[in-house]
Amino acid sequence: MIIAILLFSFWISVNVVYGADSASIYKWSGTSVGVDVSDLPSGWIPSLASSMTAWNNISSTFTFYSSSGGHKVYDANIGPGVPGETYLSKSGVVIQDADTVLNTNYLWSTSGVYGHMDVQNVLTHELGHWFMLYDLYYGYQSEYTMYGVIVTGETKKRTLEDDDVDSAYTMYH
Ligand SMILES: [Zn+2]
Repeated sequence: MIIAILLFSFWISVNVVYGADSASIYKWSGTSVGVDVSDLPSGWIPSLASSMTAWNNISSTFTFYSSSGGHKVYDANIGPGVPGETYLSKSGVVIQDADTVLNTNYLWSTSGVYGHMDVQNVLTHELGHWFMLYDLYYGYQSEYTMYGVIVTGETKKRTLEDDDVDSAYTMYH
């Protein structure tokens, strides 16, 4: 009987756990954001489009769309440090601007080749920061798109995991 109760309580706890580890209190005032790709190498635009689609497909109320002018995804050499960086400006809890730079101090590819940063892998992660999703660093979070460590040849961040979806969906539904 005790075993049965323990099993039952374990089953309950597994089923009520709601991840959303990377969710924040910050939000855009609207439900869509235009992404300006005019300063991104043209060969990288399909990768960006796939990253936008990954987030658009989660059935939240928020969508990315291509636009000219506004919030940029661009490439530039910002020196050693990180392959991609997203700059957000906020007023209180309202996100007002977002831009992402892909750092050309690193080697890049669009096919996940060894020794290069994968454009879609990094951009899917960086677009998560446009939601003001946080970087995650615990070992159990290592498969999540919002895991804060990105390495060359990696493509696993292209696809969103449940916690990434839950985090964005929690904020926009
Ligand atoms: Zn990050």
